[in-house]
Amino acid sequence: MKILAGVFCLVVLPLVGQAKLNVVVTTPDLASIAKEIGGENVEITTLAKPTEDPHFVDAKPSFIVKLNRADVLIEGGAELEIGWLPALLDQSRNSRIAPGAPGHIACAQGIQLLEVPSTLDRSKGDIHAAGNPHYLIDPVNAKIVAQHIAGSFCALDAKSCEVYRANLKKFTSAIDTKLTEWQKKLEAFKGQQVVAYHNSWLYFGERFGLKIDLFLEPKPGVPPTPTHLAEVITKMKMDKVHVIIVDPYLNRRTAETVAEKTDATVVDVTQFPGGVKGTEGGYIPLMDYLVNAIANALAQKPK
Ligand SMILES: [Zn+2]
Repeated sequence: MKILAGVFCLVVLPLVGQAKLNVVVTTPDLASIAKEIGGENVEITTLAKPTEDPHFVDAKPSFIVKLNRADVLIEGGAELEIGWLPALLDQSRNSRIAPGAPGHIACAQGIQLLEVPSTLDRSKGDIHAAGNPHYLIDPVNAKIVAQHIAGSFCALDAKSCEVYRANLKKFTSAIDTKLTEWQKKLEAFKGQQVVAYHNSWLYFGERFGLKIDLFLEPKPGVPPTPTHLAEVITKMKMDKVHVIIVDPYLNRRTAETVAEKTDATVVDVTQFPGGVKGTEGGYIPLMDYLVNAIANALAQKPK
């Protein structure tokens, strides 16, 4: 009888271990929110590194294995991952996370996307052909995504639904409290213009009243050209723009060259927890860092 009980334990224990939802997430910002909602009930694997361009992630063969074993896939959608995810998903042969399956969470659903073109045109190399996919950098959109994820987790794992709902409430109220603080910090700079390398700061600008609409790239995904940079420099001088923000995977040297010619400051920013030192703690520490770094740079007089 003792032997039988021992065998029973050996069989049952691994099954208890597997009770967690196995969640694969494309980018670290989504992973941070999924962790807030899922807590101890989910096992999260993130595909992209925080220092990697979400449009051009290095698709390793190991990703196929991870996707094959996943119960849930969370992606940003709006074509953010179109360059690398669909082929991996096909090869993973996992119907649980196929597009349209309950285990496939495309977070752009339910988001009011900005810059959606009236006609789809990829011919000029613009990688934002379906609208601007960098919506998660607006904390209000982070709340919408959190709600979406909680709803999907509840549908897939009903026994833990109460936990997911409680976690959602906690995250939402933490964002609400912080949002007031962030808005207050950036209030003094309302209407000011900031240069970005890539057009991934639109939603942040809209939420906090900054104009982040001048870019070192001539089009999203098209590398800067000398002619375009000369135009940017002229505009910056004319309108006294003195802050350039640059993500870790973009060419900081280009930003520095423009900054030297315009007496501007280059600020290291990221949309992903862990992309820049001090942002490792998750979505809220990331926003804390961004608001402070951008406010401090704007508060400085042009060099
Ligand atoms: Zn982009």
